[in-house]
Amino acid sequence: MNVTELKPLFDFEMMGKTAVNGVNSPHANGLAGQDILSVDQFDRETLQYIFARAREMREMVHRFHGSDLLKGHVLACLFYEPSTRTSSSFIAAMERLGGSVIPITQGVQFSSVSKGETLGDTIRTLEQYADAIVLRHPEIGSAKEAASYANIPVLNAGDGPGEHPTQALLDLFTIREELGRVDGLKVAMVGDLRFGRTVHSLTKLLLQYDVKLRFVSPEMLRLPLKIMNEVIDKGVEVRETHDVADVIENADVLYVTRVQKERFSDLAQYEEVKNYYNITPELMQRAKEKMVVMHPLPRVGEIHPDVDKDPRAAYFRQVKNGMYIRMALLAAVLGKA
Ligand code: ASP
Repeated sequence: MNVTELKPLFDFEMMGKTAVNGVNSPHANGLAGQDILSVDQFDRETLQYIFARAREMREMVHRFHGSDLLKGHVLACLFYEPSTRTSSSFIAAMERLGGSVIPITQGVQFSSVSKGETLGDTIRTLEQYADAIVLRHPEIGSAKEAASYANIPVLNAGDGPGEHPTQALLDLFTIREELGRVDGLKVAMVGDLRFGRTVHSLTKLLLQYDVKLRFVSPEMLRLPLKIMNEVIDKGVEVRETHDVADVIENADVLYVTRVQKERFSDLAQYEEVKNYYNITPELMQRAKEKMVVMHPLPRVGEIHPDVDKDPRAAYFRQVKNGMYIRMALLAAVLGKA
């Protein structure tokens, strides 16, 4: 091969920080270099873009198992709360794209957090090694705070009972893929609507569509007023009830959630509501033939295992979609549009 045909290993003109991170590359999109903190930052065009990329990722994984799109990139996963799906799907997403991961996911007790290190110092440290940080933390607003310390993208993987934007993206993507559309659907959210961050994020995201919303919870676990007001301000048709039987026949999506035990200061209150719902095969007989049951998981009794055999049970397909969505997001924030 002639020397002039050799592709340079580095583009020296692009050796600034942003170029190394892939941000501002000629192919970068509006998400390049951005934090992902709340669903409020996504408009429908951006959602369509992410979903199209997630479909490409799915196709690519089916055909080739992975690619080297993010080769040389490093993702730090910092989890101050337990996680199975969010942490492993971010890790799988990064690795399928050829990147690597600093996993602080088995409990921050093994990191210097246990020595009393602040969130700010931990973030400032990780950004010395990584190109992006995924953070789960028990406090509302923690991801935003972390982003204020970091010069690299911070992705909110759950800030206490606040938001869980990447989960909402995969939830919305699942609805779209399962039912072929989002507009015109009746979506019923069931369970812990008060503390369930996935419910908060998904509700807000759905307000961009022409949907009808049903909120099913015990009195104690009703949707926070702030979010309900957003729903009402948007003019979306909405009803609240305590009883799943009120919504099962007409729902296109039944989005079931766990009662968030870890958010209760009084465990006696948790005991009161923990077994409030149980979706059974008998109940499913009354549901539409073409509908989906979803759950962000883990479930702890809200959906009977016998429902798993029902083709309308979409929760494990939903899990898989999480990886494709996170692949699409990582590629986007790292400037690999
Ligand atoms: N895995 C979801 C979350 O982290 C739902 C849950 O824990 O119930 O919010």
